[in-house]
Amino acid sequence: MTPVLEIDGLVKHFGAGRGQAVHAVDGASLSIAPGEVLGLVGESGSGKSTVGRCILRLTDPTAGTIRLDDTDITHLSRRALRPLRRDVHIVFQDPYSSLNPRFSVGRIVGEPLRRHRVASGRELADRVAAMLERVGLAASLSRRYPHELSGGQRQRVGLARSLILEPKLVVADEPVSALDVSVQASVLNLMTDLQRDMGFSCLFITHDLSVVKYLADRIAVMYLGQIVETGPAAEIFASPQHPYTQALLSAAPVPDPVEQRERSRVVLGGDIPSPLDPPAGCRFHTRCPVAVERCRTEEPALVSRRDGGGPVACHLVTGADVPDLTAI
Ligand code: SF4
Repeated sequence: MTPVLEIDGLVKHFGAGRGQAVHAVDGASLSIAPGEVLGLVGESGSGKSTVGRCILRLTDPTAGTIRLDDTDITHLSRRALRPLRRDVHIVFQDPYSSLNPRFSVGRIVGEPLRRHRVASGRELADRVAAMLERVGLAASLSRRYPHELSGGQRQRVGLARSLILEPKLVVADEPVSALDVSVQASVLNLMTDLQRDMGFSCLFITHDLSVVKYLADRIAVMYLGQIVETGPAAEIFASPQHPYTQALLSAAPVPDPVEQRERSRVVLGGDIPSPLDPPAGCRFHTRCPVAVERCRTEEPALVSRRDGGGPVACHLVTGADVPDLTAI
């Protein structure tokens, strides 16, 4: 089956003056099948949002290829991209700044229908009303303005706008992290229901692994511009292999307070290094609790594990026994 999205060797460097470059993404490859949800997980500064922006061509990649439904969009002109934009939409992190405060909810949600000349007049109004109801909002809200809504309602409006054209792919960039904890679960449940009903593929970008536990089919973990582990979500949650994935997972909150108290925690030292000057060898070696000498000089490739599990970029996992950080 042709993937909805296929990225191969994506590189994005930003010039930072004086001959320096920010290595935001350095050789990331991934694909998403029709109807599949891929969780792209990593700390702030890992490059995951830049991957999302490259897919939407909000920024141009430095190298690599991006294919949407078998069309290479890496170097397409803005004009040539226009019809493809019907099929790919983004849900932003901050629902307030992503909605035009001068436009009514109805105008915001109906804008993609108008821009792509899909509907107008009564038909457009009916489709907006139906979409608002589908995201759990009353159709009467279409006359309101963003400042009159709660944070959760604004994010539902953002979802309605992203889904009204029934896109093939949705890039959701930290869609619940700006919301109150009490609202996060209801928006996540809504996204899960909508994805199952409408069948769109989704790249769900988040710093919090627990957010994608029930939503994602597969997970890709990113560290300092590179993907370090991928695999089925159930496999990653049951048996994370890369030391960074293990640390992320141990930091993710669990709903059961007893389990939360009793489980071991892998605490990473220091902050993620500057992407202006990524460490040599394994980029994670400056924070890895099980690093060995080889890690400082030799970059590990993302290769399949000996047991046939998802690919991991770690000398210890692919070359010998899996390190158990919780035993340290
Ligand atoms: Fe840690 Fe070395 Fe594996 Fe990198 S390659 S994650 S530094 S053990």
